[in-house]
Amino acid sequence: MKVAFCAVEVFPFAKTGGLGDVCGTLPLALEPLGVETVIFLPRYRGVEQGGLKIEPVHPGVSRTVIGKNISVYFIEHKEYFDRDGIYGSPAGDYPDNLERFQYYSAQVFHVLKGLNQKVDILHCHDWHAALIPVYLKELYGRDSFFQRVKSVLTIHNLAHQGVFPHKEYAKLGLSGVVLPRFEFFGKINFLKGGIEESDRVTTVSRRYAEEIQTPEHGCGLDAVLRSRREGITGIVNGLDEKMWDPSVDSLIARRYSREDFQEGKRINKARLQTAARLPVDENVPLFGFVGRLVHQKGMDLIIEMLRQADGFSGQVVILGTGEEKYRKQLEEISRQNPSRFALCTAFNEKLAHQVYAGSDFFLMPSYFEPCGLSQMISLHYGTIPIVRRIGGLADTVAAFDANRLSGNGLVFEAYGVEEFRSAIRVAQTLFHQKDQWDRIRHNSFETDFSWDQSAKQYRDLYQCLLSA
Ligand code: ADP
Repeated sequence: MKVAFCAVEVFPFAKTGGLGDVCGTLPLALEPLGVETVIFLPRYRGVEQGGLKIEPVHPGVSRTVIGKNISVYFIEHKEYFDRDGIYGSPAGDYPDNLERFQYYSAQVFHVLKGLNQKVDILHCHDWHAALIPVYLKELYGRDSFFQRVKSVLTIHNLAHQGVFPHKEYAKLGLSGVVLPRFEFFGKINFLKGGIEESDRVTTVSRRYAEEIQTPEHGCGLDAVLRSRREGITGIVNGLDEKMWDPSVDSLIARRYSREDFQEGKRINKARLQTAARLPVDENVPLFGFVGRLVHQKGMDLIIEMLRQADGFSGQVVILGTGEEKYRKQLEEISRQNPSRFALCTAFNEKLAHQVYAGSDFFLMPSYFEPCGLSQMISLHYGTIPIVRRIGGLADTVAAFDANRLSGNGLVFEAYGVEEFRSAIRVAQTLFHQKDQWDRIRHNSFETDFSWDQSAKQYRDLYQCLLSA
């Protein structure tokens, strides 16, 4: 079985978040299961920084190899992709994103055929690749090269749909008959087209698969999602356990294993406090955050909590990029309270590792969360996540039960600052109760987030689709 992964973020070549992690790792986990994959990615500026040799193979296409034998094809177009950003600049999204990702989608077919790469499945990720299932059905259905090919669309985040003015439809190269598939409140919507035309739709956790079919979390597409006969499959993301392993991590101050973590955690915490210019004190609980500074991640709750921090006795380190308004508010709070709160507004892989390793707790009070990788990474580093019970957080973090000594994190329900504050209060108490504190950290290391199970579920889904 051969699968083409179509995604516009693939680690280590291009990443802004979980999409890049998943699309760089899942193919590697499928390889030993006998699922051959090829990957298609735009050739952005800086893909060479992944450290691998990239060579031309076809006009407008270059290639490298990851894993044992996974070809990564880079679709080249200087004007569209040789830019600093993937989706936009600090001023906002690039105005030609429709053209950029339409070009990418159309090229996937040309390159597959041009290189005579026969595949069984086109596995497309998020709205940027959502035209591909539509093109497969509407433009290539009668082409013998693609006739038996099936498509899978995975939604990593329903909030991003690729919505453009109605008049832009003409640029997609599709007939008017297909237009209703794209129509969305007077505009056109790439993701909607993809959901309607793909053979299967999946998303990145079981809970999120249910949530997106409700008006509250359906982002206007809940009815379209509910109308899919065979339903939406939720497969929780795994973690690249080689990359996120404190026992071999070369980016952290002191490596440590799950069997012997106390000393390593202590040293990493002290280093992080030093780097963040916070007082070095192992008895103060340190709360970390790595992620996008956006509403989705619970930024409003974090900011509100920091603004009125009575009763809060910890330190906070925030590493993130995102919306200007949150950046400004956080900068203001850190200026007012530099001995408590450190902020770094950059995308910094090394510092991210240090925050995961050096923090005691990880803040993730998301408003919604399709899957979330940060909570899994932090658990792997013995850093206890404080999460809202939503989406993938509900599937991966179990509330600590002090009687049974079970669970790996602290969980609250409603999206409100009081609920969040009370979870933080529980964290502060737990931190000073040595037996329980040790136990929850042991539990966190025990949690299995390997890709094994999830990769098998994808393989089974592909098989099921091909035998249908
Ligand atoms: P998202 O919704 O952004 O995909 P995830 O939790 O699924 O959130 O994945 C976020 C990934 O991006 C994690 O690997 C996290 O460590 C990384 N990340 C996010 N922001 C930064 C940053 N500013 N610097 C370094 N890594 C970051």
